[in-house]
Amino acid sequence: MNKFWESNLEKLPQDVREIVIKTIKHNRWRRYETINLIASENVMSPLAEAAYLSDMMHRYAEGKPFKRYYQGTIYVDEIETKTSEFMGELLGGAYVDPRPVSGTTANAAAFRVLAECGSKAVIAPVQAGAHVSHTKFGTLGALCIEHIELPYDEENLNVDIDKAVKLIESIKPKFAVLGGSVYLFPHPVREIADAIHSVGGRLVYDAAHVLGLIIGKRWRNPLDYGADVVTSSTHKTFPGPQGGIIASRDRDLFKKIGRAIFPLFVSNHHLHRLPALAITALEMKHYGELYADQIVRNAKTLAEALAAEGFKVLGENLGYTKSHQVVIDVRSEGGGAKSAILLEKANIIVNKNLLPYDPPDAIKDPSGLRLGVQEMTRFGMKEEDMKIIAKFIARVLKKREDPTKIAQEVKSYRRDYIEVKYCFELNPIDDGKLYLLF
Ligand SMILES: *Cc1c(COP(=O)(O)O)cnc(C)c1O
Repeated sequence: MNKFWESNLEKLPQDVREIVIKTIKHNRWRRYETINLIASENVMSPLAEAAYLSDMMHRYAEGKPFKRYYQGTIYVDEIETKTSEFMGELLGGAYVDPRPVSGTTANAAAFRVLAECGSKAVIAPVQAGAHVSHTKFGTLGALCIEHIELPYDEENLNVDIDKAVKLIESIKPKFAVLGGSVYLFPHPVREIADAIHSVGGRLVYDAAHVLGLIIGKRWRNPLDYGADVVTSSTHKTFPGPQGGIIASRDRDLFKKIGRAIFPLFVSNHHLHRLPALAITALEMKHYGELYADQIVRNAKTLAEALAAEGFKVLGENLGYTKSHQVVIDVRSEGGGAKSAILLEKANIIVNKNLLPYDPPDAIKDPSGLRLGVQEMTRFGMKEEDMKIIAKFIARVLKKREDPTKIAQEVKSYRRDYIEVKYCFELNPIDDGKLYLLF
């Protein structure tokens, strides 16, 4: 804690200090003392963080840039337009709407426009990683669109293309959704796009997890393979502020979805995200390919190193992974729930996950763990570090060493990796104090 806070904290009421400030301060542990392998998280650059804290967080700007229902929005209009342009350029040319406040909100707007209540949609099978928002338990269900899963190909851990095409031809759904939350290999975008187009439907690709890999050219851009709409979060492999976007090259469809975002799903779109998103986009324009390349190498190295430590790593016959994720089966280490808790005690943060062969009701204690390397890569870790992480994990789960002892080792290991890489160097944060830009 820096001098300003040290000398001034005492002036604050006790509950502010001991509840609010204390929890924020303690949560710095997540950022600086753990090996964070949660596959859906990342950190912004210091510059983007500083830009996030601006007066825009207090304002409203309903509607589209330069056509608002509020006065005083001229600078928001400018930054929103530019943010869309920067993101569109990164996606190889696309209209981009940055107003959805989350990936789920982006999905809601796209799904609402593509199908009405009572019609059908096909989604990637849950075993191939579909997100809850694609299902009857989430957004699709809330819109009362019928959820039909595409068939699953166990061998390839993916959509079964032949059976999927037949299913689409027979039920003629309004749209298909590909992309997911737990997937190691790209879904078959071209084949599903052709099938769904042949019955007059549309393809939505949910890029929440892989947006950073797409713009870094290490994952196929679904817009180049026939996807009509891309929905995404902006904070997973793409290391921006938490939020969502919609992208499309189809102007009419894009406009229709824009008219659903507001007023159906968003009124205030959390305007302070925009400058932070713009900065991240420009950073990714410069460093995105290097970053994505290192993520993919790190994931593959982590998978191989875990296999060498004796773990059952999914996708062995397919080279383990092409994304930022690694999935391991920890049944023989005591199951997903227990393993995740043990690792947390060792300052290694992961989440338990259902594996393709788990029954859906195993959700409380599934067989697997999902690991993502994007955040540790952002802090500068490379292949050699992945081997060390695999050793830490093996010492906790296989050798059953005392996790609190390993936590101390992890904490000191992290000391060399606290600076965010792949970003502009200007750093307005010093010793925990953020020097506000404004
Ligand atoms: C994370 C995720 C979402 C949801 O994004 P939020 O921004 O958390 O609402 C949607 N789709 C997929 C595939 C995801 O992984």
